[in-house]
Amino acid sequence: MARAGKPAPALAAAGLAAIAILPGVGPQMSAKLAERGLETLQDLWFWLPRGYEDRTRLTPIRALQSGVAAQIEGTVQAVERGFRYRPQLKVALADESRGTLLMRFFHFRSQQVNQFQPGTRVRAFGTPRPGQLGLEMVHPSYRVLGGEDAELSDRLDPVYPQLEGIAPATLKRLIGEALKRLPEEAELELLPADIARALQLPALREALLTLHRPPADADLNALQSGHHPAQRRLALEEMLAHQLSLRRQRIAMQKHGAVKLGASARLAERLRASLSFALTGAQERVFAEVRADLAQPHPMLRLVQGDVGSGKTVVAALAALLAIDGGYQAALMAPTELLAEQHFNTLRNWLEPLGIDVAWLAGKVGGKARAAVLQTIANGEAKLVVGTHALMQEGIAFHDLALAIVDEQHRFGVQQRLALRDKGRAGADDASSRVPHQLVMTATPIPRTLAMAAYADLDVSVIDELPPGRTPVQTIVLTSERRPELVERIRAACAEGRQAYWVCTLIDESDEVIAQAAQGTYEALVAQLPELRIGLVHGRMNARDKQAAMLDFKAGKIDLLVATTVIEVGVDVPNASLMIIENAERLGLAQLHQLRGRVGRGATASACVLMYQSPLGQIARQRLETMRETNDGFRIAEKDLELRGPGELLGTRQTGLAAFRIADLARDADLLPQVQRIAERLLKEDAACAERIVQRWVGGAARYASA
Ligand code: ADP
Ligand code: MG
Repeated sequence: MARAGKPAPALAAAGLAAIAILPGVGPQMSAKLAERGLETLQDLWFWLPRGYEDRTRLTPIRALQSGVAAQIEGTVQAVERGFRYRPQLKVALADESRGTLLMRFFHFRSQQVNQFQPGTRVRAFGTPRPGQLGLEMVHPSYRVLGGEDAELSDRLDPVYPQLEGIAPATLKRLIGEALKRLPEEAELELLPADIARALQLPALREALLTLHRPPADADLNALQSGHHPAQRRLALEEMLAHQLSLRRQRIAMQKHGAVKLGASARLAERLRASLSFALTGAQERVFAEVRADLAQPHPMLRLVQGDVGSGKTVVAALAALLAIDGGYQAALMAPTELLAEQHFNTLRNWLEPLGIDVAWLAGKVGGKARAAVLQTIANGEAKLVVGTHALMQEGIAFHDLALAIVDEQHRFGVQQRLALRDKGRAGADDASSRVPHQLVMTATPIPRTLAMAAYADLDVSVIDELPPGRTPVQTIVLTSERRPELVERIRAACAEGRQAYWVCTLIDESDEVIAQAAQGTYEALVAQLPELRIGLVHGRMNARDKQAAMLDFKAGKIDLLVATTVIEVGVDVPNASLMIIENAERLGLAQLHQLRGRVGRGATASACVLMYQSPLGQIARQRLETMRETNDGFRIAEKDLELRGPGELLGTRQTGLAAFRIADLARDADLLPQVQRIAERLLKEDAACAERIVQRWVGGAARYASA
């Protein structure tokens, strides 16, 4: 990517100076900070507090509220040093409000004990919790007061995210030193003056100072929830930096050449004619959009969003055929082996009758088979290559890759997507070079505002219609105590020739533990339903066994498939019309929606039973309610955003977004239109300024993210 201009000289002098220039920072400390991506003064300026402590006032002990941090002052009433179970020190304080509070310490030194003579005045800050004898603070920060009245702080105390190996007080001191060297506003501000003024937010310098040392009358609630104007000022600049970075990537990408495709759509027409269904209006529209992009001499960068079951695969197949018709290769990459293999089978069934060779490549393909596939990829015999991440590995050379398709894109990082693109690179890194067109697909619908921020480097098409004849899935929420009824329900459904999934979920467990749990459920169900043919799929099985079980299920040779969430993405067995999800309360909305999307793919009315373990937490209840209320992926995504926030919604692997430090796309979504307007203007009028903003935020953020 072209680097336009250098950081402004003033900033180079101030902000980009090494932390080592600060007093008391030796080589060891520098190294430790650098490990966490803190290298320059600017890095310290932007290392913002994660919260604040209010030591600007005293709270009468009687007015303390459980769970609400506060500062109190009181006189030591009694001290007790105990050794039962483990050493601990208990200090009872009382104040003029005639309230009493217990301070409890588990780690302490003898000299600390001696400080607390009855009658001593102590000021303490902590979060009170109910104990055996009223409220307690465990390990509050405190100080013993002399006779005089100690002054109260006139600023809120910042609490910084912890850095391993660096004492919080040291970090605070360093940030304070760095702030002393904060330049004047004019040098710090990167935005053109008229834009900065129009924001109606504090100037950058003021915003930073407010956030590092808020005045006593600052709105603590706003600060804690991230809604303070000072935070919004920084969030806006950060979002702007990301927006600029993505848009510049796009501009850079579009400077490359690409082969024009679609002169002939003969193969695509033949596939269309051979399908047992007609495309939906939405599929037609999206395919037309893709086709128009492919006809351009620069690379397509298009995201196709479509709810589960909306029929993205066939659109991808048609696009691939345009490439193949032109004499080029296409590749399709999927995030799991199960899904990749299913795509391979589907695409082979569609394309082989047209005389097209489809190749399969996964990490587990080894030895001679691998060598043979690699050869067909390299010599161009393999027209369409389907596989997993293995497609991007070194040593895999395409003959002439013109279209790179990535399915379930949210499972991949941006880097991986680009790596596949690079497989088709030819020539120098400029307009004379050629890169493949890129088509990325996702079934994780995201709200429009978020899409604008997350995919600013992509054009977005939406398949907003399901194929006809689908009956909406009925969703039932049940406690796990009713499991025996469910077993009967499966028995009845399968007796009618229907098929069912039983999904075992465990979160945060190893594959091994999850596999064992699935195995256990499988055995229990085999014992309870002896007349049924039951299969098992989990992540620890080898690919061949997994594949065999899936194929048997698809062919109707298995009635009930017990599975872990490996079946979450993309698996397509239209005859399956009943799904039981065990411990559904443990899953997020996006995942539940994906799983449920495995049923309701045929003409029979389908049901999805969300079984939960009582008691149900507040958020989990809302999630299950949402699932019961709607089948609409976009509504579910909106709700998910509300419940979880965007970081989780998009997955941490979405590198571009995970790196947000201050902005929160849900909270700050209202700033996005402004961000976009400014981005557009800067890209047009002031590339050097855009570069400096990207440098400040994205350069650093990338380092923090990998820390
Ligand atoms: P997804 O968008 O979730 O990847 P798929 O491409 O797997 O969806 O399609 C889901 C199912 O719908 C497949 O069995 C596919 O063959 C079928 N399908 C796709 N388009 C249509 C259509 N227009 N009419 C009927 N069935 C369709
Ligand atoms: Mg799919």
